[in-house]
Amino acid sequence: MNGSVSPVQSLAHPMVDPFGRTIRYLRVSVTDRCDFRCFYCMSEDMTFLPKADLLTLEELDRLCSTFIAKGVRKLRFTGGEPLVRRNVMSLIRSLSRHLGSGALDELTLTTNGSQLARFAAELADCGVRRINVSLDTLDADKFRAITRWGDIDKVLAGIEAARSAGLAVKINAVALKNLNEDEIPALMQWAHGKGMALTLIEVMPMGDVGAGRIDQYVPLSVMRARLAREFTLTDLDETTGGPARYVQVAETDGKLGFITPMTHNFCESCNRVRITCTGTLHTCLGHEDASDLRKPLRASPDDDLLSAAIDRAIGLKPKGHDFIIDRRHNRPTVSRHMSVTGG
Ligand code: SAM
Ligand code: SF4
Repeated sequence: MNGSVSPVQSLAHPMVDPFGRTIRYLRVSVTDRCDFRCFYCMSEDMTFLPKADLLTLEELDRLCSTFIAKGVRKLRFTGGEPLVRRNVMSLIRSLSRHLGSGALDELTLTTNGSQLARFAAELADCGVRRINVSLDTLDADKFRAITRWGDIDKVLAGIEAARSAGLAVKINAVALKNLNEDEIPALMQWAHGKGMALTLIEVMPMGDVGAGRIDQYVPLSVMRARLAREFTLTDLDETTGGPARYVQVAETDGKLGFITPMTHNFCESCNRVRITCTGTLHTCLGHEDASDLRKPLRASPDDDLLSAAIDRAIGLKPKGHDFIIDRRHNRPTVSRHMSVTGG
């Protein structure tokens, strides 16, 4: 895989949407498959895409490189579980050339951690500096109940392997009613004790998972108020350009983030777009909007058609989203599952 992008070239065609937001961040779902079945993310009997529909690793490389040439500075792999895609490390290694050239600032991934013990050292060797690991509980039984068949020991070993390889690890946890809501202080103390930030996420109504969201949803405003009774939380000004708002926790000397799509809309500063493993571009997590990039990618070996299709899609990026969960709206706002776009 080749095709390098110089930093000068990458500034030549910035992607600016109709609301003046420059797109700098691309999230790539490299597979819709996963070795877990988290109950809020997937149904138990998910039907996955036929392998023939997937972009090849070479095509994913070309697609990502085109976005980098158009000004993307941060690339995050997600899924499904990115580390279960066969040979995904060859794609990561190949794309790391853009870190070397200075065209890309960051190459990272969000993972469930199950395969990290195998891949952590190689990720670090490819220039990956930090990763997000999703972990909603430290209780082995609850972990199995949430993931339907995940093994927490593998995940914990993966986290240790990542830390030993020098990767900064951030833990992501979805706040789940009657499941882990009481455990959040302990999860935070555990993460902060190891120097890892913790980010809490509200359940988003994406995809039919066979259960009403009202049974899963805890507003993080409520969670924050509960934590504030026990801990001293000080707002931090820093934003990552992303949806998380951070506080510093005095007692644990660690960072706690809140991703609150349901109670606080974060769209005004959104600098990101998402592509799926079939080459569909989604410019907003909370809308059904979709543009096919596979066709222009395959139609011509040079990138002009592809680049024009990307520009058209960015020109239609919606202003924001409006997720609703209440008793009247206890159905998915967006029909695709989170595993399609990777969050
Ligand atoms: N498999 C990887 C993982 O679990 O980190 C990457 C993909 S997963 C879809 C990305 C993130 O989305 C995870 O932190 C997961 O907990 C979160 N997620 C999945 N479904 C969600 C939902 N309906 N609402 C909020 N977060 C969700
Ligand atoms: Fe898999 Fe991640 Fe979805 Fe859990 S949240 S089922 S680990 S893709």
